[in-house]
Amino acid sequence: MSPDGIKLLKTPVLDKSKWMQLPRDVIIGHDALMQLPKVCEDLQVSGSVLIFSGKGTMNVAGSRVLSLVKEVADAEVFIVDKISPEIISEAEEVGAGVDVFIGVGGGRVIDTAKIVSYNCCRPFISVPTAASHDGIASSRASVPVKGGSVSLEANPPIALVADTGIIAAAPHRLLAAGCADVISNYTAILDWELSHRLRGEPISDYAMALSRMTAEIISKNADLIKPHAEESAWTVIKALLSSGVAMSIAGSSRPASGGEHKFSHALDQIAPGKGLHGEQCGIGSIITMYLHGGDWRSIRTSLKQIGAPTTPKEIGIDDKSAAQALILARSIRPERFTILDMGITEEVAEQLIAMLYED
Ligand SMILES: [Zn+2]
Repeated sequence: MSPDGIKLLKTPVLDKSKWMQLPRDVIIGHDALMQLPKVCEDLQVSGSVLIFSGKGTMNVAGSRVLSLVKEVADAEVFIVDKISPEIISEAEEVGAGVDVFIGVGGGRVIDTAKIVSYNCCRPFISVPTAASHDGIASSRASVPVKGGSVSLEANPPIALVADTGIIAAAPHRLLAAGCADVISNYTAILDWELSHRLRGEPISDYAMALSRMTAEIISKNADLIKPHAEESAWTVIKALLSSGVAMSIAGSSRPASGGEHKFSHALDQIAPGKGLHGEQCGIGSIITMYLHGGDWRSIRTSLKQIGAPTTPKEIGIDDKSAAQALILARSIRPERFTILDMGITEEVAEQLIAMLYED
């Protein structure tokens, strides 16, 4: 503060430069897929394109993307059935010399395209077929490895083409999980502030404000998020994009990933394959918000309104395993300091789970 009480802006560090990579073209809406040739023209894509898609998503959107892109470039398809270091290496071999990658599908397809694009130093276009997590527009990707998953540096998309007709037709569970991932930004930010105060970790006011606002928009409109409604798909895709942009501004996933995410990664180890990423983060957010002394009940209410799970039991995880995950969370990415690193004991973890998830 200056002597007259006016808050002074922090002086930028002039001997450092910071990169923020953001999508250049964003198209969201009904039949947005049809805009792909125009997007390719705008981005001057005319050489070779490799489209990543899953077997199921080929029928939903991949085949249409292939024929649309073929209007302007040479295009081939690489089917991604699962994401693994082996599949990524194989995709890199197939993609050597390709000009642009396009990921058409859900999390594993988009993440594969993102990593391969980063490793091959070529841009990628994100075409999500579901709105289940904020990775559709972020620069981080998650790869399952033995005993858990690793978060890798990757390219954010150069363009996002989100067809709300396709996204609204996907199972509602996926959209609800995407909302829960966004709502968990509330606690991710609180963890970041805590780490700033206790550990001196640098923060970004802009990234925090954007991330918090995104969580607020979803929470305030929770009763309007309806199954299979294109308006809902619109709202959620914009929120996921905005979360991704917040991460790009911060240069890390910090604005959208705190203790609730470490809890989710711990659940992936203890009870693999039960809940979706966003579902687990939403459930974790209830507990970490309680630990921060915040309004955990309103998080629970928003999740319920949207149709996202609010207890471990709802995703087939027993209370004991959930308590273990709260303890294990601190050993995951230990450099990322959160409220779960403040000394929670197994006894307290069990009590919290019994208390906060009682109904
Ligand atoms: Zn997430």
